[in-house]
Amino acid sequence: MKKVILIKYGELTTKKGNRNYFIKLLDDRIKKKLEGLNIEIKKDLSRMYLLVEDEDLPITLEKLQTVFGIHEYDIATLCEKSLESINETVKLLAQKESFNTFKVEVKRSDKTFPIPSMELAKDLGAVVLKNTQGKKVDVKNPELLIHVEIREKEVFIYTNTYRGLGGYPVGVQGVGLLMLSGGIDSPVAGYLAQKRGIKIEAVYFEALPHTSLEAREKVISLTRVLAKYQNEVKLHIVPFTSLQEEIYKNGKKEYTITIMRRMMYRIMEKLCEKQHACCFINGESIGQVASQTLSSLQVINAVTNYPVIRPVCCLDKLEIIEIARKIGTYDISILPYEDCCTVFVPKHPVIHPELDVCLQIEKNLNFEKLVDDIVKQTTVLKIKEEETRQYQEFL
Ligand code: ATP
Ligand code: MG
Repeated sequence: MKKVILIKYGELTTKKGNRNYFIKLLDDRIKKKLEGLNIEIKKDLSRMYLLVEDEDLPITLEKLQTVFGIHEYDIATLCEKSLESINETVKLLAQKESFNTFKVEVKRSDKTFPIPSMELAKDLGAVVLKNTQGKKVDVKNPELLIHVEIREKEVFIYTNTYRGLGGYPVGVQGVGLLMLSGGIDSPVAGYLAQKRGIKIEAVYFEALPHTSLEAREKVISLTRVLAKYQNEVKLHIVPFTSLQEEIYKNGKKEYTITIMRRMMYRIMEKLCEKQHACCFINGESIGQVASQTLSSLQVINAVTNYPVIRPVCCLDKLEIIEIARKIGTYDISILPYEDCCTVFVPKHPVIHPELDVCLQIEKNLNFEKLVDDIVKQTTVLKIKEEETRQYQEFL
């Protein structure tokens, strides 16, 4: 038997000008995600529907849970466009569900169907009452809402509505570069940016031999989790050691992190130009550490005109952790390997850095050439999502 998954675009439908583009991206994404399964996809301007064999339903739903742009979906039974068939399907559905009060709602997009919506809803209500025991109609606040949609060729009948991931299809907003460390915050920032339609490429600043290859593996694993939402994520590995050592030589140790982050931003800007990215993204959260006070952010941000998107900037650490757990990055992030920042952290980093002081320190650093060389030496890995096949328990 076939089931139908009705997909509602939600927020997409409000963006009239871009609607077709959004739907196309969503369609491409769903097709890519469901590759190899025998699924038929149909779409119109307000929704998409997937015709799925019964046994493929769990795997399909699992995969759809990693597609941004789906706000709601329903699992419908497809039935023939005849009164007998509709009656029978509604009867069977009502007998399967547990509820006390109910309502039948009929939508008739095919106006040639001979019975008006209100009348059919009443008749179907009577079918439910006749074939169940002790149930009552409640039109205002029913426990069970039975939807009957009469369309051009077929009829969809469904009861439960499920929430999708929301957001926009990845890519609809162009490309952004994610500063991805091995910490908890940046993978969450990446996920939230993807949710708003940004296709991400990750950038990892590596300071070999001060950091280990295990730290790099950790970042690769985190990138792989994010690849679930866009198929493949490019991971740029920036060889940062030379610059970091140069910065560390300066006398004002308390400014090390501030200067280091200004250098990171400079490199990010150059990588954005190279990759035609419109913004960069990171896991900074206001007040979390010395380099993330508002005044620090201002001084660090002063080196670039690119928009710096900070999706977790107003979240508490516990809220960030909650998302990290939900998306499966938390357990990877808490693995112990140091990334480049922690190795060079001074005892008392400046909390309110001054721009003049930064400029003075940077005057004595020979950083332009180092920055250019580093950008040239940056390597790229293409990370694909890992295929897992544990869908059976989903429903
Ligand atoms: P934590 O979750 O422990 O705070 P973090 O990765 O957020 O880890 P921070 O020192 O708070 O570490 O760094 C702020 C942001 O700067 C990170 O969220 C990340 O976006 C970026 N960043 C820091 N270190 C690196 C690095 N080595 N490579 C790429 N991005 C980095
Ligand atoms: Mg952080």
